[in-house]
Amino acid sequence: MTTLTLRCRCGRLRGQVDAGRIAARAVCYCKDCQAYGHFLGTGVLDAAGGTEVAATLPAAVRFDAGLEHLACMSLGPKGIYRWYASCCRTPIGNTPREQHMAYVGLVRACLDADDTTLARELGPVRLRANTKSAMAPVASNPLAAAWPLARIVTMLAKARLGGAWRANPFFGTQADEPVKPVTVLSLEERKALTPQGQRRP
Ligand SMILES: [Zn+2]
Ligand SMILES: [Zn+2]
Repeated sequence: MTTLTLRCRCGRLRGQVDAGRIAARAVCYCKDCQAYGHFLGTGVLDAAGGTEVAATLPAAVRFDAGLEHLACMSLGPKGIYRWYASCCRTPIGNTPREQHMAYVGLVRACLDADDTTLARELGPVRLRANTKSAMAPVASNPLAAAWPLARIVTMLAKARLGGAWRANPFFGTQADEPVKPVTVLSLEERKALTPQGQRRP
């Protein structure tokens, strides 16, 4: 079993993920992920405004140190939970609000592995989502994306049926109760994070 180290940029928040349970690598170019990148600061988004995530089960993730730095925000009252390290504003992962949807997209920035290691352990990025809102032309290949999508759907279904969804470091003992208070942005705060008026990378 290969584990990948999770590490925020400053190293206070640490953990690990079972690489064998990562279903796929994906890059998302949606406006929400871009807004979240702006919320955290510079150096989160790639040149096209994309955020790479490793799609996996929350049960495959473990935090070992610095849990006091784990923070959670949402871009709106219905938005997904976006987890980050408050010490240095490194994105950690995105989860649905419902615990039984056993999914976390671990953000590339917190995976302590070089590109060669990631390619070897997880394969290449085959899934590029919401390319229409990318800040630069991005080739999307629906055919290549079919397989990783199917793997993610299978992973979710298996966790749902097998009860693996219960083990989830982002949620507490109460159902659907996140382990940290969630900072929900107001509409004004959310609007202030839109790319309009922001310097394009
Ligand atoms: Zn940190
Ligand atoms: Zn997105």
